[in-house]
Amino acid sequence: MTNKDLADLLFPNINKTIEDYETIYPKRNLDTDAIVTRYAPSPTGFIHIGALLAAFVGGAFSRQTNGVFYLRIEDTDTKRTIDNGISLIINGLKEFGVTFDEGPIDDNNSVGNYGPYIQSERKEIYQTYAKHLVELGLAYPCFCSEEEIENIRNIQAHRKARIGYYGEWAKCRSLSIEEACEKIKKGEKPVIRLRSNGDYDNKIICHDEIRGEVAFPENDLDIVIIKSDGLPTYHFAHAIDDHLMRSTHIIRGDEWLSSLPIHLQLFDMLGFERPKYAHISPLSKIDEETGNMRKLSKRKDPEAAMSYYHELGIPYEAVVIYLATIASSDFEEWMMQNPDKSVNDFKFDFSRMSKSGALFDLDKLNNICKNYISTLTAKELYDKVKTYLLEYDEDFYKIFTEDEEYSCSVLNIERNSKKPRKDIGKYSDVYENVYYMYDSLFEPKYENLSLNADMYIDYIENGFNVETENWFNDISEFARKYNYVSMKEYKNNPLEYTGNISEFCEGLRYIVTGKTQTPSLQEILTILGKERVLKRLNNYKDISKRS
Ligand code: GLU
Repeated sequence: MTNKDLADLLFPNINKTIEDYETIYPKRNLDTDAIVTRYAPSPTGFIHIGALLAAFVGGAFSRQTNGVFYLRIEDTDTKRTIDNGISLIINGLKEFGVTFDEGPIDDNNSVGNYGPYIQSERKEIYQTYAKHLVELGLAYPCFCSEEEIENIRNIQAHRKARIGYYGEWAKCRSLSIEEACEKIKKGEKPVIRLRSNGDYDNKIICHDEIRGEVAFPENDLDIVIIKSDGLPTYHFAHAIDDHLMRSTHIIRGDEWLSSLPIHLQLFDMLGFERPKYAHISPLSKIDEETGNMRKLSKRKDPEAAMSYYHELGIPYEAVVIYLATIASSDFEEWMMQNPDKSVNDFKFDFSRMSKSGALFDLDKLNNICKNYISTLTAKELYDKVKTYLLEYDEDFYKIFTEDEEYSCSVLNIERNSKKPRKDIGKYSDVYENVYYMYDSLFEPKYENLSLNADMYIDYIENGFNVETENWFNDISEFARKYNYVSMKEYKNNPLEYTGNISEFCEGLRYIVTGKTQTPSLQEILTILGKERVLKRLNNYKDISKRS
């Protein structure tokens, strides 16, 4: 019996050859420096913000070299796969401006000539290559049960040996072809393992585009390439897919860096040209309890989930700017020098990307968000808030969109100025900032009921002039009637006056908005208009009388 017999017995339904696939997926006809890369998520319903960073950077590299950026769905771990996982990924990323040239476009359809782009639909391809390796004697079936593997591990731990299925520990490596065939015929379902040709005592130097040279021991583990359900492991699928889809660069999270020796070995044993690798360092934060830096964790940090930004209405434009800031040491300076350019015009360079954990700081992001929102026109902000509210706050949506012009004028308060307001960092902040401008939402619970409402009614009826540019002079002038004077005068002689002009304004602000701090009082009064302001003053008067 030969390895070919064993291969046929293991994969009776595989009729294509590896040459067939080389023909079906020819080399891409692109410029020599064009980067072909991919985003390869598992459709689990969860997207880590670090994965968004990898996708964003991958898209940028392929765009700036006229390459190809494609989406590949890695769903071989069937337990973690959810139903509409693919469209969640596509729509989620699109919101952050990340789109693909090839790959699935929804849960059922794909575009591009290098598909299927969903791993569970590529079973035959993986098996063809696995069959080929078995034929060459470079892979073999392993019949060890989970208990047996566990047992080997325990003995290794006990003897302080390196853990894993390798060398003399790799029991099934030495099964004869006859023994293996016998077991298969009896119905045993093996996994397929690589017959590693590596020596752990040999050091190899791997090149990473971001980190430079990294030294590793050669891989001597007989890793599983095909699981007992017939689907490939990550390692094997990575080699086959990135070869056949003709990726030039593998840009991925650095949790895969330590697997690089396995991957290079796989490419070599399969006779594939090695791609280039760029491992992106993890986003980190300072742990509140320990004060130490640690990876942003899916379990502990809500901000690790991409959905967090969507749910809070954190502008994706600002998130992307922040991610670029973290990812590339020269981005911030570039942005300062090119304030009118889009983040998509920035040219990434692997050599300027962070080699170690980059600090992900929500306060810094919040500042970028506030800056970003301050640059929007009222109408632009209105449209974004409207989209956000439609999904997350139906009640406020109705009120906010009832009169677009009015809402825009509210959002325009202190916007069209040299120093625009920067108090809104996310769309979910808008309600808190503007609700008092809507009568149906204005239900003040006044704590201070000792203000002189009549004085303010007098001001609105007789002193308030919407048109004037000298609003502050006018109100200061009027306030004198009630013995409120300028700050300076008041400070010099506090006992002689009722108060100073800012106290006069604060009182009016408090009655009209129910708040002690708001943007421009003049703009608020103007937008509300005399009638509504008087109504609020009279209402305050009634409440204070009753108390
Ligand atoms: N499916 C892998 C993951 O989600 C992809 C890693 C890669 O980009 O190769 O981590």
